[in-house]
Amino acid sequence: MDGTEAIRAGKNSSAAADSAKAKELRERLERLLREAANVEVELSRADGTIKGVPHYSLIEGRAHELGKQLSREVQEHQMRELAASHAPMAKCPQCDTRCALRLRKRTVKSVDGDADLQELVGDCPRCRRSFFPDARDAGL
Ligand SMILES: [Zn+2]
Repeated sequence: MDGTEAIRAGKNSSAAADSAKAKELRERLERLLREAANVEVELSRADGTIKGVPHYSLIEGRAHELGKQLSREVQEHQMRELAASHAPMAKCPQCDTRCALRLRKRTVKSVDGDADLQELVGDCPRCRRSFFPDARDAGL
């Protein structure tokens, strides 16, 4: 095996590891979604929302609410991770002063309801203005 082949083989095994990891995560997610569905059905019976033979729209409505709740959880988690991975400092877009960033909570009206997101904000002491850091300074 020459150097080029070794690099190619390394890339392939890395891609294989990535796809094995993705497969494992997909299977885990499916297990968790099935478990969430089981708990939701049990909960709907326990809290009395679903009893006897309900109209299908009641079943569908509760299921959809659970989907929206999951969507908001994912949005909040993605934004938390994005903020955590950002560099702690950023340049003010007006005057280029390097400023410390702080976390700020903001409620966003998503298509699936209100999501409480965390985002980074810089406060420039020179301009006396707040700014959102440029994604190019993300430090990713
Ligand atoms: Zn500034």
